[in-house]
Amino acid sequence: MTPEKLFAELLGLGLKWRVTECVFHKDRSQVDLQLEHTDEVWKLERCPQCGAEAKGYDRTEPLRWRHLNVMQYRCEIVCRLPRGRCPQCSHTWRVRPPWEGKAGGFSKEFEAFALLLLREMAVERVARTLGETAPRLWRLLHQHVDAPYAEADFSQVCCVGVDEMSVRKGHKYISVFADRIKKRVLFAAEDRDAGVFPQFIAALEAHNGHRHALTEVAMDWSPAYRKGVRETCRNATVVHDKYHVMANLILATEKVRRREQKQRPELKASRWLLRQNPEHLSEEQAAELAVLTQSNLASVKAYQMRLAFQNAYRLPHASAARRRLEAWCRWVRLGRKKFGTLFVEMVKFAESVERHWDGILAHWKHGLTNAFMEGLNSVFSAVKRRARGFRSFVYLRTMLYLVAGKLRVPAL
Ligand SMILES: [Zn+2]
Repeated sequence: MTPEKLFAELLGLGLKWRVTECVFHKDRSQVDLQLEHTDEVWKLERCPQCGAEAKGYDRTEPLRWRHLNVMQYRCEIVCRLPRGRCPQCSHTWRVRPPWEGKAGGFSKEFEAFALLLLREMAVERVARTLGETAPRLWRLLHQHVDAPYAEADFSQVCCVGVDEMSVRKGHKYISVFADRIKKRVLFAAEDRDAGVFPQFIAALEAHNGHRHALTEVAMDWSPAYRKGVRETCRNATVVHDKYHVMANLILATEKVRRREQKQRPELKASRWLLRQNPEHLSEEQAAELAVLTQSNLASVKAYQMRLAFQNAYRLPHASAARRRLEAWCRWVRLGRKKFGTLFVEMVKFAESVERHWDGILAHWKHGLTNAFMEGLNSVFSAVKRRARGFRSFVYLRTMLYLVAGKLRVPAL
């Protein structure tokens, strides 16, 4: 078998195309496969405008497609593609070869392989691994994400969650909407104000969903998001899910500790200890904590309060939870009397709880697991790592849809 025939077999070319030459450029470490069409190409080719039988007209300049490597060498297909001309309507067009991918300049197999890597690694690193440029890989990504995203079906969406993703520390934000039942990202918009809701609703309805089908929206207690729900999807209940509430409380306890640490430097070492749940501690750490709890520190009191709040989530009914949490808020105010300004953040948190009863108690009425919203945070950091160096909104959004959109992206 000649190398040309061998490569034609390997590429699965069939009768319409043949390999005319294989050249190994040792200096460039590259294999070029020269391809050519046969007359068979015209047998089933029809004019894309009127459907008439097509005739060969001319050929394009030589074009290149990066394919998977041959051994360790870069491999490219080179071909002058035939152009057809319609005898009826004089339309001319380029015949689409079977190996061509979506992004231009790559074969289908190469694109599938690149996508596999792009799901796992930073774009810059994939570029170095494959010997491609990052902008070319981004173009490939956009092509493969945009089309299946446009076809995604949101008609069953009823329980969503919205969360913010910070692009840079303390700067820009992106709002991300997720389907909490199918556990996928639905939509991302720039900013975190109420204006992202009409954008989300437009996207939802463009994908066969409906605003009045939304029954609950889980979120942090951001007034902007609440306003968004009020103005765009009135049927939905606002749910302040356990994950967000606890995140706020942990932040408050951490602020107490930081404030107190200025007077009690020994608290510096206990940061981690006080953030954990007791069941996750080793014997040694548990002993350390036991010593700490003997002391009369505001940080320790805040820690105990955090555990008590967390335990309220084990209560089966909203009414019991409300009574427990009301008592909890009174307890915090007592703490304020004892610890003074050290407890400011805890009191602020208790006041927020009292402002958001409906949303917090909705956790018991709707009882959806918040595991997916909680997991989104690690999705955000993965997305930011992959898009390192390319943090504009469109890039982040594409990466988010690739990683968490559950789209039909081709695989090898
Ligand atoms: Zn025609």
